Amino acid sequence: MQKLLKIITTLIVCVGCIGMASKLYAQSAYPFSAQAYISYTQDTIALTHCYFADVVNKTVLSDETIIISHGIIAKTGKTKEVSIPTGATVIDCTGKTVLPGYVLLHEHMFYPAASVSPYYVHYKQLPVTFPRLYLACGVTTLRTAGSVEPYSDLSLKKEIDAHQIIGPNMYVTAPYMEGAGGFAPQMHEITTTEEARRFVNFWADEGFTSFKAYMNLPRSVLKAAIDAAHARGLKVTAHLCAVTYREAAEMGIDQLEHGFFAATDFIPGKEEDACVSELNPFKHIDPRGTEVKNLINILVKNKVILTSTLAVFEGLCKQDTIPAQQVLDAMSTDTRDMYLKYYIHEKSTDMDSAMKKEFIMEKEFVDAGGLLTAGTDPTGNGNVLAGYGSLRAIELLTKEGFTPVEAIRIATYNGAIALQTQATIGSLEVGKHADLVVIDGNVADNINNIEKVQWVFKDGVGFNSQKILQQLKGQVGKY
Ligand SMILES: [Zn+2]
Repeated sequence: MQKLLKIITTLIVCVGCIGMASKLYAQSAYPFSAQAYISYTQDTIALTHCYFADVVNKTVLSDETIIISHGIIAKTGKTKEVSIPTGATVIDCTGKTVLPGYVLLHEHMFYPAASVSPYYVHYKQLPVTFPRLYLACGVTTLRTAGSVEPYSDLSLKKEIDAHQIIGPNMYVTAPYMEGAGGFAPQMHEITTTEEARRFVNFWADEGFTSFKAYMNLPRSVLKAAIDAAHARGLKVTAHLCAVTYREAAEMGIDQLEHGFFAATDFIPGKEEDACVSELNPFKHIDPRGTEVKNLINILVKNKVILTSTLAVFEGLCKQDTIPAQQVLDAMSTDTRDMYLKYYIHEKSTDMDSAMKKEFIMEKEFVDAGGLLTAGTDPTGNGNVLAGYGSLRAIELLTKEGFTPVEAIRIATYNGAIALQTQATIGSLEVGKHADLVVIDGNVADNINNIEKVQWVFKDGVGFNSQKILQQLKGQVGKY
């Protein structure tokens, strides 16, 4: 029966005229179940009269037109100077801004499982809701930062690439490399250098393209993992604790997660290879002082990329941390109960003051020439969801002193540079993939306009953001 269906489908495709077939290609490449969320699949689309987030030159232009042709940005320029190709589908973007699709670097397809205490966390893979949430909020490319279900992450990537499901392009990071004494039972403990090399080679063979070290991994093991990954041309990032930022930079690490929050460099009396985690690791430092400047210089000199993950820390602050109603509405009943029972109480004024210093240090890092990227980390305290949390992480960057378009650049162009994909994604330049986000309002006026997502284009296919989000209400946490 299946064979017969296949033959009939092939025949229908064969007899269709070629022009029609190419026109329907993008749409037919997605399954029937995804069609309800797709608004535009035409070969040639003109977005006219837009505000245009030029992240390369860090400015927002007005009255611009963008021509998309077969999934690629074919032309951009002032509306009156760009001629619209015959037969193009025209979308009038008056009053709307077009941004590059976000390229975020600290993402997960899992989330804390409902009804566990925050002190013993078991994570649950959410392969249905998370890819959709990310896409609907404008994330068109992401890198995971540690996996708890490696084969599920790999499969998701394959299914998204094959258009079997909708979601962002994925760069997958292997399971966490943790040392002895971790809090999360799903993270594998690696205690010897030999084991580190075996681990890296095994997961590289399975198809993972980067690695993430976790808090308790000691120096010798981290160094062995970095060398093994580099020998295969792969990158290593880390959420450090036992190893300081300076030590990791000097051993050649590529990236560090959570801005400076995971730096134990400033904790007085910290012993070598010992993880001492403090809610305010900056208690004793001046964020503009020499100690911080010296560390920043070491990071910049060693080309260590930093990932800012402000949203996940905001939830631990006393101030301004009630999650938006839409976030609570998106959660399933169990997940909302868990959040309201455990996590909403996990707040501290210590975090308020740490956050203020973090803002200053991330900005100083950029001013010193460091490459700052952005990520969501939809785990932590439970109120940061994929997509919604991603937008919050970007908005918070403006509290560091970045303009809205500079914040967007960190979450797009810089992410592409970190993934070495800036030739094809990360900005609205001719020849790049038509990965873009259309929002209501001018982003230069108010960064919070990024929440008003209308359409998200991935390779020129326009997804209806609100329709996807509507369908996910009450589902996030279930699957
Ligand atoms: Zn994480």
